[in-house]
Amino acid sequence: NNIVVAIDGPAGAGKSTVARAVAERIGLPYLDTGALYRAIAWKLDREGIAPEDGERISQALASFRLEFIPGGLMADGTDVTAAIRTPEIDRIVSAYAARPEVRGALIELQRAQAKNGLVADGRDMGTVVFPEAELKIFLTASAEERARRRYKERLDRGEAADYDEILKQVVERDNYDMTREIAPLRPAPGCIILDSSYMDAAQVTDAISSLASR
Ligand code: C5P
Repeated sequence: NNIVVAIDGPAGAGKSTVARAVAERIGLPYLDTGALYRAIAWKLDREGIAPEDGERISQALASFRLEFIPGGLMADGTDVTAAIRTPEIDRIVSAYAARPEVRGALIELQRAQAKNGLVADGRDMGTVVFPEAELKIFLTASAEERARRRYKERLDRGEAADYDEILKQVVERDNYDMTREIAPLRPAPGCIILDSSYMDAAQVTDAISSLASR
């Protein structure tokens, strides 16, 4: 049953937790496309290339190697799994993700992972990368609830966290992702919109898994 399940939605809606669990449940690979954009932001920022500099972005990406490893990602031979999950990357990633050079560089890489079906989460899975997906979900929740989840995640990891600051950043990143010119975040035609404000991860996982098994 090699289907594609495309899960899109704003930051902190629980997409990656749920997508990973659904993939496990129905026996498909999981693709975290946000990690790919984060790895590119990590690289370009380290090289001092600004999001406005399309020419240098294209040059840098021409020789950039991204490789999946179990549970993580390698960028140019460096394990960046942890390095791409920082507040600093949260802050800069959307400006790079709005660049056509960046999005173009990732399209084929993403589609190549879907040969035997997959569960993929991101912002443009149902709209751009996998428009023919058998199941498209737009997973959302109120901004306050999404910020609260992020806040709790940080505390659980033993990190310092400021709820108001996280809420502000979540809203800023959503606005950026929803209003960009290329592949803006929005519900795909034919998607099912799921508001998880009052659901926990297990309930959302059950709901999507049963939709995928119909
Ligand atoms: O999902 P995650 O929070 O890791 O995504 C980080 C950022 O990468 C998003 O805010 C968005 O700007 C970008 N992104 C995207 N398209 C995707 C996945 C992520 O533009 N398919």
